[in-house]
Amino acid sequence: MNKTYVSTRNHQDQINFYQAIVQGIGDDGGLLVPNFDFQKLDLNKLVQLNYVDLATEVISTFVPEDGKELIHQACLNAYGKGLFPEIVVPVKKAGDVYVAELFHGQTAAFKDMALSLLPHLMTLSLKQLKEDREVMILAATSGDTGKAALEGFKDVEGTCIKVFYPLDGVSAIQQQQMVSQEGKNVKVVGIHGNFDDAQSAVKVAFGDKMLKEVSDQHHVFLSSANSINVGRLIPQIVYYFHSYFELVRNKEIEMGDQVNFCVPSGNFGNCLAGWFAKNMGLPVNKFIAASNKNNILTDFFTTGKYDANREFFKTNAPAMDILVSSNLERLVWYMSGKDGDKVKEYMEKLKADGIYEVDDETFARIQDQFKAGYLNEEEVLKTIKDCYEDNGYVLDTHTACGYGVLKQYQKETGDQTKTILLSTASPYKFPESVYKALFNEELNVYDAIEKLNKKTGVAVPKPLVGIKDREVLHKTHIDKTEIINFIKSEMEGL
Ligand SMILES: *Cc1c(COP(=O)(O)O)cnc(C)c1O
Repeated sequence: MNKTYVSTRNHQDQINFYQAIVQGIGDDGGLLVPNFDFQKLDLNKLVQLNYVDLATEVISTFVPEDGKELIHQACLNAYGKGLFPEIVVPVKKAGDVYVAELFHGQTAAFKDMALSLLPHLMTLSLKQLKEDREVMILAATSGDTGKAALEGFKDVEGTCIKVFYPLDGVSAIQQQQMVSQEGKNVKVVGIHGNFDDAQSAVKVAFGDKMLKEVSDQHHVFLSSANSINVGRLIPQIVYYFHSYFELVRNKEIEMGDQVNFCVPSGNFGNCLAGWFAKNMGLPVNKFIAASNKNNILTDFFTTGKYDANREFFKTNAPAMDILVSSNLERLVWYMSGKDGDKVKEYMEKLKADGIYEVDDETFARIQDQFKAGYLNEEEVLKTIKDCYEDNGYVLDTHTACGYGVLKQYQKETGDQTKTILLSTASPYKFPESVYKALFNEELNVYDAIEKLNKKTGVAVPKPLVGIKDREVLHKTHIDKTEIINFIKSEMEGL
């Protein structure tokens, strides 16, 4: 089988996996997607594998036939060399909800799941393509992608990385994690603007003619570490299988039983990876996408209209403060029967009018598999408190959106399918909100970490220990309108 990738907007030559990783985004501004049938996997075989071997089996179905050994080596480097605990994703119980903790990587973020592997995929792809230009990785971040990408790409040969974060849109811990980043090839830049501004500037950079000329002159090219890169999406399929198998191994379910997944969602990459897993044979009943007060996904999944003409809220779950959810474009492409012309039309409408509506048939397919809901900020805090009092489990603000939405969904539908909630952050990433929720007291960030640890006994993740005292190395702040020019001058400096 010829495993090619195309763009969701139909105007991009067919390319292979390695080219897709390196290119990051379609030439036409669309997202790259595998244009072949998902391979069905044998669950009874996979359940016996450790995380590295499981990841190898899953991911190698997306690469050319002879790539499996390369993928195995990359997975070993990412997941098998002590950057994660022995059980890469521990699955805990909070009452009757299974919580898959995706935050045990080297920056204590769920983004580590994919960004620990992406640099290895990038270097092996550059080698396969015999590419000798330097690659400049661009990442817009609502907080966690930035740090995880910096850590993943720091001092990786042949690469440099620029991270753009909204100055008022990330938590104090996230900001401190990023601005203290070491590494010869890294830059971290604060933006006067919100996450969507940063993300769209990065997307624009890829299509910018002036930048293209400058990059050619300086023997460099751009790629992306955001979940627009299919190399972010594919590694995320693995933990859906893994957490399902954990339930089988712990005799909570029998092999073949259906489960639901509840996913705190922003750019929708996480949830979409689960849908890929389902297509590869994982028995999934429903996906429940949870949002915060920026509930554009909830509205989309209940009406079929994607309407970005609305107020943007900065909330206590900032990684989900997103109005332009990139990966939804991939879902719409699949659900419309891989109709790139239609997707292109939708995305042009979104750009021009801030709104599009999928056709009835597409919407029916989506609604059949995806449910959605959201919590406002007070509900987030109340959910953290309730879950702790009921189960002794401490949720962070994002995972709390998932937990609360799941409870709403179960109450409304009576669906009793066992559910795995993906936990996307440690409570110590957002300690002020979590502490306030549990103990009704406002503390500064570092006191909140200390007292949260004392009172709940939940261990502080290693990457966050001592973070307060790390030196600030990155102090550049620019306006959102200056991002393109900043990239240009960085190219010229190479
Ligand atoms: C990135 C992130 C999300 C959203 O994930 P998507 O794949 O963009 O939907 C949710 N929670 C946290 C803590 C995150 O860092």
